[in-house]
Amino acid sequence: MASPREELIAAAQAMAARGLAAGTSGNVSLRTKEGILITPSATPYETLTPEMIPLLQPDGRFEGRLRPSSEWHFHLDIYAARPEVGGIVHHHAPYTTALALARREIPACHYMIARFGGAPLRCAGYALFGTEELSANVLKALEGRSACLMANHGGIATGRDVAAALAAATELEVLAQQYLLSLAAGGPVLLSEAEIEDAVRQFATAYRPNTGRD
Ligand code: 13P
Ligand code: ZN
Repeated sequence: MASPREELIAAAQAMAARGLAAGTSGNVSLRTKEGILITPSATPYETLTPEMIPLLQPDGRFEGRLRPSSEWHFHLDIYAARPEVGGIVHHHAPYTTALALARREIPACHYMIARFGGAPLRCAGYALFGTEELSANVLKALEGRSACLMANHGGIATGRDVAAALAAATELEVLAQQYLLSLAAGGPVLLSEAEIEDAVRQFATAYRPNTGRD
């Protein structure tokens, strides 16, 4: 079985391989009993090895040779505010970021938005990367949602573990792409609040994880 550090590296490298993070943009973390494992700052994903992964404590102190991602504030703050979150992926993926540059939220254009907790997926207000101010804006944008955009920056997706966060981050990019394309087709017909609530319920019941045990 893969160790948590190996799982983190696999998720970060898959993020890059999927075209969600160019260069050293983006960052990935996961929660363990010992603290938060997070990708090191400004380090190419393909070079990562387990001993390069810093371990962060809730007060921001870290163990390890390399300094943690510059976005450690929002990673720590999300884990503190959201006990159900076990993994976080932040990326500058092209379609997500195109909407973030325009400071557009993603409205109820597709039922799949319900898998993120509802609509809209908000765009956090602009603040300098790596700051507590950005973290405060992100926490606000994430209220009742598992993903958000960040003005003039990119997107964030959370999950119960890092694999789920990566899946959510990938789906966020696909949703952003679909929404942008629909704007070119005359603009989406938006679903009603009741239709989104139905879809949220359907995800929790009929489309719950398929474990084969029922
Ligand atoms: P790090 O390399 O420090 O994680 O920064 C990348 C990034 O996307 C900052 O928002
Ligand atoms: Zn970033």
